[in-house]
Amino acid sequence: MDTKVLRKISDGLYLLTAKDGNKLNGCVINTLERVTTTPNKVTISVIKENFTHDMIMKTGEFNVSIFSEAADFETLKNFGFQSGKDTDKFKDFPYETSENGLPYITKGTNGFISAKVFEKIDLGTHTLFIADVTDGETLSSEPSATYDYYQKNIKEAPDKKAKGWVCKICGYVYEGDPLPEDFICPLCKHGASDFEKH
Ligand code: FE
Repeated sequence: MDTKVLRKISDGLYLLTAKDGNKLNGCVINTLERVTTTPNKVTISVIKENFTHDMIMKTGEFNVSIFSEAADFETLKNFGFQSGKDTDKFKDFPYETSENGLPYITKGTNGFISAKVFEKIDLGTHTLFIADVTDGETLSSEPSATYDYYQKNIKEAPDKKAKGWVCKICGYVYEGDPLPEDFICPLCKHGASDFEKH
């Protein structure tokens, strides 16, 4: 099987946010799909290791801000490459609050939706959340950023001098060889299949 064919599937790029008590948090996902229209339902798939995952499991609510082509790498690093378990990702990042009380961001995004979990499915490494869309706003007319656009235009080029296995998602370098098959990137939590040898 040519596993590269799976990269031909178009993905978007999103900030998934949640709120539990006073704790606000968010993570970057590329797995939002609209799956029904009347009523509007979406699915998101979230890695269980993400703190945002646990917050949604508990509260049953989330917002998704949709990244546009105006998104910058700093924003993606702030939300994608550190854990909400030990950092407050919203400490220095401006956000708005939607009617459900959850945060969403307007910098580098073209809209957001609010959703309430309808069903959860355990996928092993991830949980698939099926959710009803309860609210949403358009924020700009910029085109949405596809995951492919992110890879080519938003992400900083990895350090050319880096020797070892480089994460194609975030640029993290694993200096050993071989790369363990079950390796998970400590920054972006993607697996060994997203690494390439430099
Ligand atoms: Fe990574």
